[in-house]
Amino acid sequence: MSIINKQQAREVGAQLGETFRQLKLTRSVALMEVCGTHTHALFRSGIRSLLPPEIRLISGPGCPVCVTPPGYVDLAQEIASYSDVIITTFGDMMRVPGSKGSLLESQANGADIRIVYSPLDVLEIARSNPAKKIIFLAVGFETTVPTVAATIERAATQGLANLTFLTAHKVVPNALRALLNDPEISLDGFLLPGHVSTVTGFGLFSFLREEYHIPAVVAGFEPVEMLAALIKLSTLAANKQPLLVNVYGGLVTEEGNIRAQALVEKVFTLADVTWRGIGTIPGSGLVLKPEYSNFDARLVFGLEESQNAGPAGCLCGEILKGKKIPPDCSLFKTVCNPEKPVGPCMVSSEGTCGAYYKYHN
Ligand code: SF4
Repeated sequence: MSIINKQQAREVGAQLGETFRQLKLTRSVALMEVCGTHTHALFRSGIRSLLPPEIRLISGPGCPVCVTPPGYVDLAQEIASYSDVIITTFGDMMRVPGSKGSLLESQANGADIRIVYSPLDVLEIARSNPAKKIIFLAVGFETTVPTVAATIERAATQGLANLTFLTAHKVVPNALRALLNDPEISLDGFLLPGHVSTVTGFGLFSFLREEYHIPAVVAGFEPVEMLAALIKLSTLAANKQPLLVNVYGGLVTEEGNIRAQALVEKVFTLADVTWRGIGTIPGSGLVLKPEYSNFDARLVFGLEESQNAGPAGCLCGEILKGKKIPPDCSLFKTVCNPEKPVGPCMVSSEGTCGAYYKYHN
């Protein structure tokens, strides 16, 4: 893989931007960038401003913290209130509001909640605190799950009996099916996440072409990569060519990472799970297999999520489906901002409201 410097990248970006302007689109197209990392990168790089008016970019449900149902935060907070517990989590979850505040507030009130940078970090925390019950908040898409599966495998091998996982893992394909089956949502193409595809393989998304006759392009996250992908996708969409194209170079293969997939399949199984604002989608999540049930925090603590509808007035659910954009929310910038977020879409580094707040005038 060749590396280009910033000046070269700027020049290539300018050329691609010009290419965009010169695209002779035969009709306007609605393209969904599935992944929240793409949403932020597209804003940050200024690519949105390069797009001709015929191309409408719609942000999708690919923010794991955002799609985690509100009751999950409540459940994590309840477990965190137990005196013999240490909650471990990625930083993104800390400020997500539940019905009784956030985990950050629980931490300020004395709960032992620790941010980790890899699920594997929790192994050492469990070993060092044998008198405590350690719970990892396992939230994330296909990209995150293999490391969580590896952590559970190691915990099993090491006989760590004080470590459990509060899982809320989601997988992308059936969420896209749910959007495409919704008569109120009209999309002409998908910009697919390169990192998810690295694990799953881009072949997993062939149903978009075969079942829905809609084009999709797998893209990386560098500006040049996203521009190249959008040029390809908008051309396919405008010409109604339902192709699945990978422009993420050699990093993504059709089969994906077979070892990672095997590890995930050993520990997890597909299940119907609830997405914030979207509802229950068949086969859209991963839960622990029965042979790993001793690592399932819900079973160990005998608890289930409450049916929490989420903060009043928050349109995160509609935004995750691409039906609304953040400025449609009456709380956007008035009551809800990154300092005092009302919903997760404002908190997460992959949230659409956070991206609009930061980059959209
Ligand atoms: Fe929810 Fe805040 Fe976004 Fe409105 S602006 S949808 S309240 S996160």
